[in-house]
Amino acid sequence: MNEARGLRTRYCGELGAADAGSPVVVCGWVDRRRTHGEHLAFLDVRDHTGVVQCVVDERIDARSEYVVRVAGVVRERPEGTANPALATGEIELGDCSVEILKRAEPIPIPLQGDVDENLRLRYRYLDLRRARMQRNLRIRARVNAAIREAMDAQGFVEVETPMLVASTPEGARDFVVPSRLHPGNFYALPQSPQLFKQLCMVGGLDRYYQIARCLRDEDLRADRQFEFMQLDAEAAFVGAEEVIDFITTAVSHTVDVVTGSPLGEVPIITWNDAMDRYGSDKPDTRFGMELVDCTDLFAGTQARVFQVPCVKGITVAGGAEMGRNRIDELTASCKRWGAKGLAWFRLAEGGEDGAPALDGALSKFMSPTEQAALPQRLGASAGDMIMLIADERWLADRVLGLLRLELGRPPVSEGGLAPLWVVEFPLFEDIDEAGNPQPAHHPFTMPHPDDLDYLVRGGGESLLRVRSQAYDLVINGWELGSGSVRIHDAAIQKQVFATLGIDADEVERRFGFLLEAFGYGAPPHAGFAFGIDRLAALLAGEENIREVIAFPKTQSGADPLTSAPSLVEPAHLAELGLRLRPS
Ligand code: ASP
Repeated sequence: MNEARGLRTRYCGELGAADAGSPVVVCGWVDRRRTHGEHLAFLDVRDHTGVVQCVVDERIDARSEYVVRVAGVVRERPEGTANPALATGEIELGDCSVEILKRAEPIPIPLQGDVDENLRLRYRYLDLRRARMQRNLRIRARVNAAIREAMDAQGFVEVETPMLVASTPEGARDFVVPSRLHPGNFYALPQSPQLFKQLCMVGGLDRYYQIARCLRDEDLRADRQFEFMQLDAEAAFVGAEEVIDFITTAVSHTVDVVTGSPLGEVPIITWNDAMDRYGSDKPDTRFGMELVDCTDLFAGTQARVFQVPCVKGITVAGGAEMGRNRIDELTASCKRWGAKGLAWFRLAEGGEDGAPALDGALSKFMSPTEQAALPQRLGASAGDMIMLIADERWLADRVLGLLRLELGRPPVSEGGLAPLWVVEFPLFEDIDEAGNPQPAHHPFTMPHPDDLDYLVRGGGESLLRVRSQAYDLVINGWELGSGSVRIHDAAIQKQVFATLGIDADEVERRFGFLLEAFGYGAPPHAGFAFGIDRLAALLAGEENIREVIAFPKTQSGADPLTSAPSLVEPAHLAELGLRLRPS
């Protein structure tokens, strides 16, 4: 623990009964003031460690948020006046003399209770005085320190890469910075240090890491800001297994430092399994409710709804009680997510041969065999609810995955940490309107060796079946990070660019330096990056990463404190060779 120095001898929140009798000097802000008559005041003085009550026997004009220095003697509180809600509630400072270091205007936001988000960010420096923000930023600092410790211990070298770069494709829009010295030209701010870390591998650094700031011009969400920090890592002469091990070690150590216990075994599942069992490539495994395939039960069904390529379902334990309004709401959500509808059945006692009886609009179209087999397949019993989606397989998976979260997901701070690795992601996730496949990770990801030929000869929709050597780390349904084995061979890299529809000239212009580097002895290499904001939020039990960022942007990407983004003077624009088009 660091010692109080300078104007003070002790921190407020650390004083306790063991200090009784000691003269101390504390500094901080007046959290609350209560006066008793003319000559007695109780000042609660707050610093980053907590609050201590100071009893002042003189007339004093110290209001809320004044900055004070108090000299006094620690004493146990009189019988019956201890405050168990306060860490220092057994003691107080007596015989106090108070020096006002700085008066304060009445503050525009309360430091307790709910405050409008915009106001919180407008006065973020006051908001930071809240115990919650103090705690969160300290957790974050420990996360950073622990990551560095773990990466250093594993032989990774910290390297800083530039902020003014050429575009790095990570699938988002770039923030661009106009160049004054090269009018008409622009730098991009890095979406990630991806290309530099690969060049570090060509440069023989062997193991690289960086706590890197990345910038992506995407819509903001609870788990996404324009700029974020990631642990970025890369290693030569290793494959996916080793990277998974390095990163698991780093995350586990970090979790240990912050919570007192390491992560434990982190399961690994393939992307296909994740989609099949959870309907998501970032499954929240804190709860079960796995998706169960029932397609074969309906092979000869009379029920039209189930005459489709795939019927899958989930069981809502105890869900038979669910009201009609809630079911209608869920049905509407499923339709919004792309399904034709939601088939649901309440299970009651009294079916044939001791099986539960199905009660739902569709049960009358189902044969007795189907009725008996369904709850058995899902392991459901009387009192539960079964929900089915009948459609194409990918759609049934996706919709049930969302339904599962809606019905079962606990708040982020409950149920502990459930990490897992998802491996063998597809190489491409989509085919755009121009017929070009979109990389699921980024274009530098090595295809699965068994699918390489397929990539060369394949085409169209079948490309979506090419697996990659990419892997994600997921915790509590949050994608904490991703990585991959990289292409280190110019010919394969060119093939992937060609498959992506990037023509040779553009490849040369944007990535010629990388392909050239590969020609000079690039070692096989692989890497990963995970979001530090997300990890810190999980460990702080926060749903929104803004709560672990000192100065975040609002949902609309603005900073109400400094008024960014803001206009630039015409003279400055002219210097950059820019002119605004009248809107
Ligand atoms: N560059 C990737 C990203 O920032 C991570 C990686 O592949 O290492 O998402």
